[in-house]
Amino acid sequence: MKKRVKSADCPCGSGLLLSACCGPRLAGERPAETAEALMRSRYTAYALGDEAYLLATWHPSTRPDGLDLAADPVKWVGLSVESCTGGQAGDAEGRVCFVARYKAGGRAGRLAEDSRFLSEDGRWYYVDGEVG
Ligand SMILES: [Zn+2]
Repeated sequence: MKKRVKSADCPCGSGLLLSACCGPRLAGERPAETAEALMRSRYTAYALGDEAYLLATWHPSTRPDGLDLAADPVKWVGLSVESCTGGQAGDAEGRVCFVARYKAGGRAGRLAEDSRFLSEDGRWYYVDGEVG
């Protein structure tokens, strides 16, 4: 059995290597097939500080003018996807409930969100979310 290289594990917690999971999505090589896949890749983008990918996958109706992740240094340390509704290939919309864990200023925190996604021209976009 092959040993996995810990440092290359995908931040989204899938258990796959970054290069076999969210990496190709962030590189623009493989669009997310499902709302959950997009959500995972956006979490990874937050973890890696990839602002361009976050903006590119934000629905134009709610997309901010810009992001400055460095201004608010949060270390994202874990993700668990709790449930999904719709959001499969061929669906027009989907919801993903997740809990993301982070560390900020030496303190641990968690963010629970019910995110909404829309599919347009075969691509998933993040619309908005309710923090719960
Ligand atoms: Zn991933």
